[in-house]
Amino acid sequence: MTQVVDTVPELADFRAEVSSWLSSVLPPRPAPSPEDRPDLAVFRNLSDEDESALLDAVRDYRRRRFDAGYGAVTLSVEHGGRGFPASFASAIAQAEREFDVPLSTELISVTTGLVGPAVAMFGSDEQRATYANPLLRTDLLACQLFSEPGAGSDLAALGCRGVRDGDDWIFNGQKVWSSGARFADLGMLLARTDPDAPKHKGITAFLIPLDLEGVEIRPIRQMSGGASFNEVFLHDVRVPDGMRLGDVGAGWKVAGATLAFERTASGSVTRKKGGSVAELVALAQSLGVAGDPLVRQDIADVYIRSELRAATADRVARAAAAGISPGPAASVGKLMASDVLSRIGEIAADMLGENISARVDDDLFAWSEHLLGSPGYRLAGGTDQIQRTIIGERVLGLPSEPRENRDQPWSGRDKR
Ligand SMILES: Cc1cc2nc3c(=O)[nH]c(=O)nc-3n(C[C@H](O)[C@H](O)[C@H](O)COP(=O)(O)OP(=O)(O)OC[C@H]3O[C@@H](n4cnc5c(N)ncnc54)[C@H](O)[C@@H]3O)c2cc1C
Repeated sequence: MTQVVDTVPELADFRAEVSSWLSSVLPPRPAPSPEDRPDLAVFRNLSDEDESALLDAVRDYRRRRFDAGYGAVTLSVEHGGRGFPASFASAIAQAEREFDVPLSTELISVTTGLVGPAVAMFGSDEQRATYANPLLRTDLLACQLFSEPGAGSDLAALGCRGVRDGDDWIFNGQKVWSSGARFADLGMLLARTDPDAPKHKGITAFLIPLDLEGVEIRPIRQMSGGASFNEVFLHDVRVPDGMRLGDVGAGWKVAGATLAFERTASGSVTRKKGGSVAELVALAQSLGVAGDPLVRQDIADVYIRSELRAATADRVARAAAAGISPGPAASVGKLMASDVLSRIGEIAADMLGENISARVDDDLFAWSEHLLGSPGYRLAGGTDQIQRTIIGERVLGLPSEPRENRDQPWSGRDKR
Protein backbone atom coordinates (compact mmCIF):
# COMPACT_ATOMS: atom_id res chain seq x y z
CA MET A 1 0.00 0.00 0.00
CA THR A 2 1.32 3.46 -0.85
CA GLN A 3 1.66 5.52 2.31
CA VAL A 4 1.26 9.26 2.29
CA VAL A 5 4.34 10.55 4.09
CA ASP A 6 4.90 13.83 5.93
CA THR A 7 8.29 15.46 5.17
CA VAL A 8 10.59 12.92 6.80
CA PRO A 9 13.41 14.57 8.74
CA GLU A 10 16.89 13.06 9.11
CA LEU A 11 16.72 10.39 11.81
CA ALA A 12 19.58 11.92 13.82
CA ASP A 13 17.92 15.36 13.71
CA PHE A 14 14.63 13.83 14.80
CA ARG A 15 16.28 12.01 17.73
CA ALA A 16 17.96 15.25 18.85
CA GLU A 17 14.64 17.11 18.56
CA VAL A 18 12.86 14.45 20.68
CA SER A 19 15.65 14.54 23.32
CA SER A 20 15.42 18.30 23.47
CA TRP A 21 11.63 18.14 23.94
CA LEU A 22 11.98 15.43 26.59
CA SER A 23 14.49 17.53 28.53
CA SER A 24 11.92 20.36 28.57
CA VAL A 25 9.19 18.19 30.15
CA LEU A 26 10.95 15.52 32.25
CA PRO A 27 13.94 15.15 34.55
CA PRO A 28 16.74 12.73 33.55
CA ARG A 29 16.31 9.09 34.58
CA PRO A 30 17.78 8.64 38.06
CA ALA A 31 20.71 6.19 38.41
CA PRO A 32 19.72 2.88 40.08
CA SER A 33 20.34 2.89 43.83
CA PRO A 34 21.36 -0.13 45.99
CA GLU A 35 18.30 0.67 48.16
CA ASP A 36 15.91 -0.02 45.24
CA ARG A 37 13.90 -3.17 45.88
CA PRO A 38 14.59 -5.61 43.00
CA ASP A 39 11.76 -5.64 40.46
CA LEU A 40 11.90 -9.04 38.76
CA ALA A 41 8.15 -9.59 38.39
CA VAL A 42 6.89 -10.47 34.93
CA PHE A 43 3.35 -9.36 35.87
CA ARG A 44 3.03 -6.80 38.62
CA ASN A 45 0.83 -7.42 41.63
CA LEU A 46 -0.78 -3.98 42.01
CA SER A 47 -3.85 -2.87 43.89
CA ASP A 48 -6.53 -1.13 41.80
CA GLU A 49 -5.52 2.19 43.42
CA ASP A 50 -1.86 1.71 42.43
CA GLU A 51 -2.85 0.64 38.92
CA SER A 52 -5.03 3.77 38.55
CA ALA A 53 -2.22 6.02 39.80
CA LEU A 54 0.19 4.41 37.35
CA LEU A 55 -2.26 4.88 34.47
CA ASP A 56 -2.82 8.53 35.43
CA ALA A 57 0.93 9.22 35.34
CA VAL A 58 1.53 7.53 32.01
CA ARG A 59 -1.58 9.12 30.43
CA ASP A 60 -0.48 12.58 31.51
CA TYR A 61 2.85 12.00 29.77
CA ARG A 62 1.31 10.37 26.68
CA ARG A 63 -1.06 13.34 26.17
CA ARG A 64 1.86 15.75 26.23
CA ARG A 65 3.83 13.50 23.87
CA PHE A 66 0.88 13.29 21.47
CA ASP A 67 0.34 17.06 21.52
CA ALA A 68 4.03 17.58 20.77
CA GLY A 69 3.65 15.46 17.60
CA TYR A 70 5.42 12.31 18.83
CA GLY A 71 2.32 10.22 19.52
CA ALA A 72 1.57 8.30 16.33
CA VAL A 73 4.64 8.82 14.20
CA THR A 74 4.44 5.55 12.24
CA LEU A 75 0.76 5.82 11.38
CA SER A 76 0.19 7.13 7.83
CA VAL A 77 -0.66 10.82 7.38
CA GLU A 78 -4.05 9.95 5.89
CA HIS A 79 -4.84 8.11 9.13
CA GLY A 80 -3.74 10.96 11.39
CA GLY A 81 -0.10 10.01 11.95
CA ARG A 82 3.14 11.30 10.42
CA GLY A 83 3.93 8.41 8.08
CA PHE A 84 7.49 7.96 9.36
CA PRO A 85 9.34 4.61 9.21
CA ALA A 86 9.46 2.40 12.32
CA SER A 87 13.02 3.57 13.02
CA PHE A 88 11.51 6.90 14.17
CA ALA A 89 9.39 5.12 16.80
CA SER A 90 12.55 3.30 17.95
CA ALA A 91 14.35 6.66 18.10
CA ILE A 92 11.65 7.98 20.46
CA ALA A 93 11.94 4.86 22.65
CA GLN A 94 15.74 5.21 22.75
CA ALA A 95 15.57 8.90 23.66
CA GLU A 96 13.01 8.14 26.39
CA ARG A 97 15.44 5.73 28.10
CA GLU A 98 17.51 8.74 29.21
CA PHE A 99 14.57 10.38 30.99
CA ASP A 100 12.30 9.67 33.93
CA VAL A 101 9.38 8.65 31.70
CA PRO A 102 6.42 7.03 33.50
CA LEU A 103 6.50 3.35 32.55
CA SER A 104 3.83 2.14 30.18
CA THR A 105 1.35 -0.65 30.88
CA GLU A 106 -0.16 -3.26 28.59
CA LEU A 107 -3.49 -1.37 28.42
CA ILE A 108 -1.69 1.74 27.15
CA SER A 109 0.16 -0.31 24.50
CA VAL A 110 -3.07 -2.01 23.38
CA THR A 111 -4.88 1.36 23.22
CA THR A 112 -2.23 3.34 21.32
CA GLY A 113 -0.53 0.51 19.46
CA LEU A 114 -3.46 -1.67 18.39
CA VAL A 115 -6.97 -0.29 18.84
CA GLY A 116 -6.21 3.40 18.11
CA PRO A 117 -4.48 2.63 14.78
CA ALA A 118 -7.23 0.10 13.89
CA VAL A 119 -9.94 2.74 14.37
CA ALA A 120 -7.85 5.25 12.41
CA MET A 121 -7.50 2.77 9.56
CA PHE A 122 -10.87 0.97 9.46
CA GLY A 123 -13.18 3.48 11.15
CA SER A 124 -15.76 5.63 9.37
CA ASP A 125 -15.12 9.39 9.30
CA GLU A 126 -17.39 9.76 12.33
CA GLN A 127 -15.62 6.98 14.26
CA ARG A 128 -12.24 8.51 13.47
CA ALA A 129 -13.38 11.93 14.65
CA THR A 130 -14.89 10.54 17.86
CA TYR A 131 -12.44 7.80 18.81
CA ALA A 132 -9.15 7.68 16.90
CA ASN A 133 -7.34 10.69 18.35
CA PRO A 134 -8.78 10.23 21.88
CA LEU A 135 -7.42 6.65 21.80
CA LEU A 136 -4.03 7.63 20.37
CA ARG A 137 -3.84 10.43 22.98
CA THR A 138 -5.01 8.00 25.76
CA ASP A 139 -8.02 10.17 26.64
CA LEU A 140 -9.93 6.94 26.10
CA LEU A 141 -8.49 3.51 26.90
CA ALA A 142 -9.42 0.35 25.01
CA CYS A 143 -8.76 -3.34 25.56
CA GLN A 144 -8.74 -6.22 23.13
CA LEU A 145 -11.78 -8.56 23.31
CA PHE A 146 -10.49 -11.32 21.01
CA SER A 147 -9.75 -14.56 22.96
CA GLU A 148 -12.50 -16.81 24.28
CA PRO A 149 -12.45 -19.97 26.40
CA GLY A 150 -12.73 -22.03 23.18
CA ALA A 151 -10.79 -19.72 20.85
CA GLY A 152 -7.20 -18.73 21.60
CA SER A 153 -4.65 -20.33 19.30
CA ASP A 154 -7.53 -20.97 16.91
CA LEU A 155 -8.94 -17.45 17.24
CA ALA A 156 -11.09 -17.82 14.10
CA ALA A 157 -13.20 -20.41 15.97
CA LEU A 158 -14.63 -17.66 18.22
CA GLY A 159 -18.31 -17.94 19.11
CA CYS A 160 -19.38 -14.66 20.79
CA ARG A 161 -22.57 -13.94 18.83
CA GLY A 162 -23.54 -10.63 17.27
CA VAL A 163 -27.11 -10.54 15.89
CA ARG A 164 -28.43 -7.61 13.87
CA ASP A 165 -31.59 -6.00 15.28
CA GLY A 166 -32.67 -2.97 13.20
CA ASP A 167 -29.96 -0.32 13.55
CA ASP A 168 -28.34 -2.18 16.47
CA TRP A 169 -26.41 -5.33 17.16
CA ILE A 170 -27.04 -7.54 20.19
CA PHE A 171 -24.08 -9.41 21.63
CA ASN A 172 -24.00 -12.51 23.79
CA GLY A 173 -20.91 -14.47 24.76
CA GLN A 174 -17.73 -14.54 26.78
CA LYS A 175 -14.26 -13.17 26.23
CA VAL A 176 -11.24 -14.07 28.38
CA TRP A 177 -7.67 -12.96 29.17
CA SER A 178 -8.72 -9.38 28.36
CA SER A 179 -5.73 -7.42 29.68
CA GLY A 180 -6.67 -4.19 31.45
CA ALA A 181 -10.45 -4.48 30.77
CA ARG A 182 -11.36 -3.15 34.24
CA PHE A 183 -9.66 0.15 33.44
CA ALA A 184 -10.74 0.42 29.81
CA ASP A 185 -13.51 2.65 28.42
CA LEU A 186 -13.95 0.61 25.26
CA GLY A 187 -13.31 -2.90 23.99
CA MET A 188 -12.41 -3.90 20.46
CA LEU A 189 -14.67 -6.90 19.98
CA LEU A 190 -14.58 -9.73 17.46
CA ALA A 191 -18.01 -11.35 17.14
CA ARG A 192 -19.53 -14.15 15.07
CA THR A 193 -22.12 -12.42 12.90
CA ASP A 194 -22.64 -15.18 10.32
CA PRO A 195 -22.48 -18.68 11.82
CA ASP A 196 -23.12 -20.30 8.45
CA ALA A 197 -20.07 -18.82 6.75
CA PRO A 198 -16.62 -20.51 7.06
CA LYS A 199 -15.01 -19.58 10.37
CA HIS A 200 -12.71 -16.82 9.07
CA LYS A 201 -15.49 -15.22 7.01
CA GLY A 202 -18.35 -14.85 9.49
CA ILE A 203 -16.59 -12.52 11.94
CA THR A 204 -17.18 -8.75 12.32
CA ALA A 205 -15.22 -6.24 14.43
CA PHE A 206 -16.84 -3.64 16.71
CA LEU A 207 -15.87 -1.04 19.26
CA ILE A 208 -18.07 -1.38 22.33
CA PRO A 209 -18.34 0.89 25.39
CA LEU A 210 -17.65 -1.23 28.48
CA ASP A 211 -20.08 0.66 30.72
CA LEU A 212 -23.12 -0.58 28.76
CA GLU A 213 -25.84 -2.57 30.46
CA GLY A 214 -25.10 -6.30 30.15
CA VAL A 215 -21.30 -6.01 30.22
CA GLU A 216 -19.84 -7.83 33.21
CA ILE A 217 -16.08 -7.74 33.87
CA ARG A 218 -14.55 -10.17 36.35
CA PRO A 219 -10.85 -10.06 37.28
CA ILE A 220 -8.78 -13.26 37.03
CA ARG A 221 -6.25 -13.64 39.84
CA GLN A 222 -2.99 -15.01 38.43
CA MET A 223 -0.66 -17.38 40.29
CA SER A 224 1.91 -14.56 40.43
CA GLY A 225 -0.56 -12.50 42.50
CA GLY A 226 -1.73 -9.73 40.15
CA ALA A 227 -5.07 -9.58 38.37
CA SER A 228 -4.26 -7.85 35.11
CA PHE A 229 -6.50 -10.19 33.11
CA ASN A 230 -10.26 -10.36 33.07
CA GLU A 231 -13.19 -12.37 31.86
CA VAL A 232 -15.72 -10.21 30.02
CA PHE A 233 -19.29 -11.51 29.78
CA LEU A 234 -21.77 -9.97 27.34
CA HIS A 235 -25.45 -10.51 28.13
CA ASP A 236 -27.79 -8.99 25.51
CA VAL A 237 -25.49 -6.01 25.05
CA ARG A 238 -27.07 -3.61 22.54
CA VAL A 239 -24.69 -1.53 20.41
CA PRO A 240 -25.57 0.70 17.43
CA ASP A 241 -24.34 -0.34 14.00
CA GLY A 242 -22.34 2.91 13.99
CA MET A 243 -19.84 1.14 16.30
CA ARG A 244 -19.01 -1.50 13.68
CA LEU A 245 -15.38 -1.37 12.48
CA GLY A 246 -15.11 -2.26 8.82
CA ASP A 247 -17.58 -4.26 6.75
CA VAL A 248 -19.86 -6.98 8.07
CA GLY A 249 -17.89 -10.24 7.74
CA ALA A 250 -14.53 -8.46 7.40
CA GLY A 251 -13.53 -8.88 11.07
CA TRP A 252 -10.70 -11.32 10.33
CA LYS A 253 -9.03 -8.75 8.08
CA VAL A 254 -9.46 -6.04 10.74
CA ALA A 255 -8.07 -8.38 13.42
CA GLY A 256 -5.06 -9.36 11.29
CA ALA A 257 -4.17 -5.75 10.52
CA THR A 258 -4.63 -4.82 14.19
CA LEU A 259 -2.25 -7.52 15.37
CA ALA A 260 0.27 -6.49 12.70
CA PHE A 261 0.34 -2.96 14.19
CA GLU A 262 2.12 -4.50 17.18
CA ARG A 263 5.27 -4.56 15.09
CA THR A 264 5.20 -0.93 14.02
CA ALA A 265 3.56 0.73 17.03
CA SER A 266 4.99 4.03 18.27
CA GLY A 267 7.90 3.50 20.60
CA SER A 268 7.28 3.38 24.32
CA VAL A 269 9.32 2.74 27.41
CA THR A 270 8.14 -0.53 28.86
CA ARG A 271 9.27 -1.99 32.10
CA LYS A 272 11.89 -4.74 31.98
CA LYS A 273 10.07 -8.04 32.48
CA GLY A 274 11.64 -10.56 34.82
CA GLY A 275 15.24 -11.02 35.94
CA SER A 276 18.19 -10.80 33.54
CA VAL A 277 21.28 -13.01 33.19
CA ALA A 278 23.30 -10.28 34.98
CA GLU A 279 20.86 -10.44 37.91
CA LEU A 280 21.18 -14.23 37.90
CA VAL A 281 24.99 -13.91 38.17
CA ALA A 282 24.56 -11.42 41.03
CA LEU A 283 22.24 -13.92 42.78
CA ALA A 284 24.84 -16.73 42.38
CA GLN A 285 27.50 -14.45 43.84
CA SER A 286 25.33 -13.39 46.78
CA LEU A 287 24.56 -17.06 47.57
CA GLY A 288 28.27 -18.00 47.30
CA VAL A 289 27.64 -20.54 44.51
CA ALA A 290 29.21 -18.67 41.59
CA GLY A 291 32.17 -21.11 41.59
CA ASP A 292 30.00 -24.24 41.46
CA PRO A 293 30.67 -25.93 38.06
CA LEU A 294 27.01 -26.93 37.54
CA VAL A 295 25.77 -23.40 38.30
CA ARG A 296 28.45 -21.96 35.98
CA GLN A 297 27.37 -24.35 33.22
CA ASP A 298 23.70 -23.35 33.57
CA ILE A 299 24.52 -19.65 33.59
CA ALA A 300 26.85 -19.96 30.58
CA ASP A 301 24.11 -21.81 28.68
CA VAL A 302 21.43 -19.18 29.37
CA TYR A 303 23.94 -16.37 28.66
CA ILE A 304 24.58 -17.78 25.16
CA ARG A 305 20.84 -18.20 24.54
CA SER A 306 20.20 -14.66 25.75
CA GLU A 307 22.88 -13.23 23.39
CA LEU A 308 21.36 -15.17 20.48
CA ARG A 309 17.93 -13.84 21.44
CA ALA A 310 19.26 -10.27 21.47
CA ALA A 311 20.82 -10.75 18.03
CA THR A 312 17.52 -12.10 16.67
CA ALA A 313 15.57 -9.22 18.23
CA ASP A 314 18.02 -6.82 16.62
CA ARG A 315 17.47 -8.49 13.23
CA VAL A 316 13.68 -8.16 13.62
CA ALA A 317 13.99 -4.49 14.67
CA ARG A 318 16.27 -3.69 11.72
CA ALA A 319 13.86 -5.36 9.28
CA ALA A 320 10.94 -3.39 10.74
CA ALA A 321 12.97 -0.16 10.59
CA ALA A 322 13.72 -0.83 6.92
CA GLY A 323 10.02 -1.39 6.26
CA ILE A 324 10.54 -5.12 5.58
CA SER A 325 8.22 -7.60 7.26
CA PRO A 326 10.32 -9.56 9.77
CA GLY A 327 8.25 -12.64 8.84
CA PRO A 328 9.02 -15.85 10.71
CA ALA A 329 12.10 -14.27 12.39
CA ALA A 330 9.61 -12.62 14.76
CA SER A 331 8.40 -16.10 15.77
CA VAL A 332 11.97 -17.27 16.35
CA GLY A 333 12.60 -14.18 18.52
CA LYS A 334 9.37 -14.66 20.51
CA LEU A 335 10.18 -18.33 21.14
CA MET A 336 13.71 -17.50 22.27
CA ALA A 337 12.53 -14.69 24.54
CA SER A 338 10.03 -16.87 26.42
CA ASP A 339 12.59 -19.71 26.59
CA VAL A 340 15.28 -17.47 28.12
CA LEU A 341 12.80 -16.02 30.62
CA SER A 342 11.72 -19.51 31.75
CA ARG A 343 15.30 -20.83 31.97
CA ILE A 344 16.44 -17.88 34.08
CA GLY A 345 13.57 -18.59 36.52
CA GLU A 346 14.40 -22.30 36.68
CA ILE A 347 18.12 -21.68 37.33
CA ALA A 348 17.26 -19.16 40.07
CA ALA A 349 14.87 -21.70 41.62
CA ASP A 350 17.59 -24.41 41.55
CA MET A 351 20.01 -22.06 43.30
CA LEU A 352 17.50 -20.90 45.89
CA GLY A 353 16.11 -24.34 46.72
CA GLU A 354 13.27 -24.08 49.23
CA ASN A 355 13.83 -20.31 49.57
CA ILE A 356 12.22 -19.80 46.15
CA SER A 357 8.86 -20.28 47.85
CA ALA A 358 9.65 -19.78 51.56
CA ARG A 359 11.00 -16.22 51.47
CA VAL A 360 7.97 -14.05 50.86
CA ASP A 361 8.98 -11.00 52.86
CA ASP A 362 12.40 -10.02 51.52
CA ASP A 363 14.18 -9.22 48.25
CA LEU A 364 14.42 -12.91 47.27
CA PHE A 365 10.65 -12.95 46.71
CA ALA A 366 11.36 -11.03 43.51
CA TRP A 367 12.68 -14.32 42.06
CA SER A 368 9.44 -16.13 43.01
CA GLU A 369 7.57 -13.41 41.11
CA HIS A 370 9.78 -14.05 38.09
CA LEU A 371 9.28 -17.83 38.25
CA LEU A 372 5.48 -17.57 38.62
CA GLY A 373 5.06 -14.98 35.86
CA SER A 374 7.34 -16.36 33.14
CA PRO A 375 4.96 -19.14 31.91
CA GLY A 376 2.54 -16.39 30.81
CA TYR A 377 5.03 -15.32 28.18
CA ARG A 378 4.97 -18.80 26.67
CA LEU A 379 1.27 -18.09 25.86
CA ALA A 380 0.88 -14.35 25.21
CA GLY A 381 0.89 -13.22 21.57
CA GLY A 382 0.80 -16.82 20.29
CA THR A 383 1.99 -19.84 22.26
CA ASP A 384 5.36 -21.57 21.90
CA GLN A 385 3.71 -24.41 20.01
CA ILE A 386 2.06 -22.03 17.55
CA GLN A 387 5.40 -20.23 16.98
CA ARG A 388 6.97 -23.64 16.28
CA THR A 389 4.24 -24.40 13.75
CA ILE A 390 4.98 -21.09 11.98
CA ILE A 391 8.71 -21.84 11.95
CA GLY A 392 8.11 -25.45 10.81
CA GLU A 393 5.84 -24.42 7.95
CA ARG A 394 7.39 -21.14 6.82
CA VAL A 395 11.09 -21.53 7.60
CA LEU A 396 11.72 -25.25 7.40
CA GLY A 397 9.12 -25.87 4.67
CA LEU A 398 7.55 -28.81 6.52
CA PRO A 399 4.07 -29.97 5.45
CA SER A 400 1.38 -27.73 6.96
CA GLU A 401 -0.73 -28.99 9.83
CA PRO A 402 -4.23 -30.24 8.93
CA ARG A 403 -6.80 -27.44 8.64
CA GLU A 404 -9.75 -29.42 7.26
CA ASN A 405 -12.46 -27.31 8.87
CA ARG A 406 -11.20 -24.07 7.33
CA ASP A 407 -13.80 -23.99 4.54
CA GLN A 408 -16.70 -25.61 6.41
CA PRO A 409 -19.54 -23.43 7.77
CA TRP A 410 -18.60 -22.45 11.36
CA SER A 411 -21.96 -23.74 12.66
CA GLY A 412 -21.47 -27.23 11.20
CA ARG A 413 -17.70 -27.48 11.40
CA ASP A 414 -15.73 -30.51 12.48
CA LYS A 415 -14.41 -29.32 15.88
CA ARG A 416 -11.35 -31.64 15.99
C1 LIG B 1 0.06 -12.19 29.13
C2 LIG B 1 -1.13 -12.45 28.26
C3 LIG B 1 -1.90 -11.38 27.80
C4 LIG B 1 -3.02 -11.62 27.00
N1 LIG B 1 -3.80 -10.55 26.64
C5 LIG B 1 -4.91 -10.77 25.88
C6 LIG B 1 -5.81 -9.68 25.57
O1 LIG B 1 -5.61 -8.55 26.02
N2 LIG B 1 -6.89 -9.93 24.82
C7 LIG B 1 -7.16 -11.17 24.31
O2 LIG B 1 -8.13 -11.32 23.59
N3 LIG B 1 -6.36 -12.25 24.63
C8 LIG B 1 -5.25 -12.07 25.41
N4 LIG B 1 -4.45 -13.14 25.77
C9 LIG B 1 -4.82 -14.49 25.32
C10 LIG B 1 -3.82 -15.13 24.35
O3 LIG B 1 -3.94 -14.58 23.07
C11 LIG B 1 -4.11 -16.64 24.38
O4 LIG B 1 -3.83 -17.10 25.69
C12 LIG B 1 -3.27 -17.41 23.40
O5 LIG B 1 -3.59 -17.10 22.07
C13 LIG B 1 -3.44 -18.94 23.61
O6 LIG B 1 -4.78 -19.29 23.60
P1 LIG B 1 -5.42 -20.17 24.78
O7 LIG B 1 -5.01 -19.57 26.09
O8 LIG B 1 -6.87 -20.28 24.50
O9 LIG B 1 -4.73 -21.57 24.69
P2 LIG B 1 -5.13 -22.74 23.67
O10 LIG B 1 -5.18 -22.20 22.28
O11 LIG B 1 -6.32 -23.47 24.17
O12 LIG B 1 -3.87 -23.67 23.79
C14 LIG B 1 -3.70 -24.60 24.87
C15 LIG B 1 -2.42 -25.39 24.58
O13 LIG B 1 -2.59 -26.15 23.36
C16 LIG B 1 -1.56 -25.81 22.43
N5 LIG B 1 -2.11 -25.78 21.07
C17 LIG B 1 -3.25 -25.18 20.64
N6 LIG B 1 -3.38 -25.33 19.31
C18 LIG B 1 -2.31 -26.02 18.89
C19 LIG B 1 -1.85 -26.48 17.60
N7 LIG B 1 -2.56 -26.23 16.49
N8 LIG B 1 -0.68 -27.14 17.55
C20 LIG B 1 0.06 -27.39 18.67
N9 LIG B 1 -0.32 -26.99 19.92
C21 LIG B 1 -1.48 -26.31 20.02
C22 LIG B 1 -1.12 -24.40 22.82
O14 LIG B 1 0.16 -24.11 22.36
C23 LIG B 1 -1.22 -24.46 24.36
O15 LIG B 1 -0.06 -25.05 24.89
C24 LIG B 1 -3.36 -12.94 26.61
C25 LIG B 1 -2.61 -14.02 27.10
C26 LIG B 1 -1.53 -13.80 27.94
C27 LIG B 1 -0.80 -14.99 28.49
